[in-house]
Amino acid sequence: MHDPLNWLDDELARLAAGGLLRKLAVRSGPQSGLQVILNGESLANFGSNDYLGIAASLSQGNIDDAVRQAGWGAGASPLIIGRGEFHARLEAALAKFEGTAAALLFPTGFAANAGTIAALVGPGDVVFSDALNHASLIDGCRLSGAQVVVYRHCDVAHLRELLAAAPAAKKKLIVTDSLFSMDGDLAPLVYLTELAEQHRAMLMVDEAHATGVFGANGRGVSEHLGVEDAVHIRVGTLSKALGSMGGFVAGQQRLIDWLTNRARTYFFSTACPEAVAAAGLAALSIVQEQPQRRIELLARASQLREQLRAQGWPLPDVGSQIIPLRIGDAEPTMRFAAWLRDQGFFVPGIRPPSVPAGQSLLRLSLTWQHDVGTLSRLLSAVGEGRKRFVKSDYLRGEVGL
Ligand code: PMP
Repeated sequence: MHDPLNWLDDELARLAAGGLLRKLAVRSGPQSGLQVILNGESLANFGSNDYLGIAASLSQGNIDDAVRQAGWGAGASPLIIGRGEFHARLEAALAKFEGTAAALLFPTGFAANAGTIAALVGPGDVVFSDALNHASLIDGCRLSGAQVVVYRHCDVAHLRELLAAAPAAKKKLIVTDSLFSMDGDLAPLVYLTELAEQHRAMLMVDEAHATGVFGANGRGVSEHLGVEDAVHIRVGTLSKALGSMGGFVAGQQRLIDWLTNRARTYFFSTACPEAVAAAGLAALSIVQEQPQRRIELLARASQLREQLRAQGWPLPDVGSQIIPLRIGDAEPTMRFAAWLRDQGFFVPGIRPPSVPAGQSLLRLSLTWQHDVGTLSRLLSAVGEGRKRFVKSDYLRGEVGL
């Protein structure tokens, strides 16, 4: 009998033949920024977004209280009966942290990005989106039905041209990651705020990888560059440096009121358990009370970048806790990653569709917990692997992709 899912065999075989079929590993026990046990193998962990090592600190206290008081599942979407006291407290704390009138908690950062864009623009409007924006922003653009204009990665001159040539739209939105998730580089937010002002465009910035890490108070790259007040829609996530789960939007009260009414990923989705919101509250306190975690992390990252540059890796001076080691083709990238694993290091190989074809890379995610010894062992292994797996002509020809 014909099974209408038979086409999947061909597609999966095609992925496998191209070296692009992903198999999921199983992690045992908690991960820390330092160590992870994958399929029973203990590895130095360079694949964690728990940048400040907070996940491991969120096991008791107010989280237990939240479970005792509120049970587990929220039972409904926030618009029905799902929004509990811990959610409300976290939203108030996030608004205070961000220095905005209000904040709205989404189940994930993905939902925050996708739902917010689709609530803000629609057919007849134009969104200007960086070519390397995260999938959740891209999907939000598609979902909105607005015209999507993609500008070259961090290319302010290109964006300026595109804005000037844009049709007189009802509304314009410029949207960007603040810290790009694959390349670890920072968006030119000072210029983007100027362009937004000149063209009366809304500016939305996704600080997912920067919340807790950048800025004197941990509010992200917008704070680090002193442009927070010119960013109209600030998105952050609790799932990365805050070691928990959930996304949020911070901004003016009318923005939050609109999203409450119009962001479909918000009100058609069950609120997260209150214990998760309690974890977010505890994480936010750590971010505020222990700035040394982010200061030490960024200092270590900058030192490692310098050491990697000395090995010949093409890395810019300015960067972040995400360090890309560019290889090029997917196949040597994955062989390099597998070899590093044999040496005791988990460093994810990033290949299409996460990056464009020919731009595969190893992504090193540093966390506050990485110590000097682990970093120097990693450095030696990466130096050795570079000789084995990276074609020198690629490195010469493609610097600064
Ligand atoms: N934005 C960026 C830039 C991301 O990298 C991610 C997660 N990979 C998200 C948003 C989505 O956040 P979350 O994991 O909380 O859904």
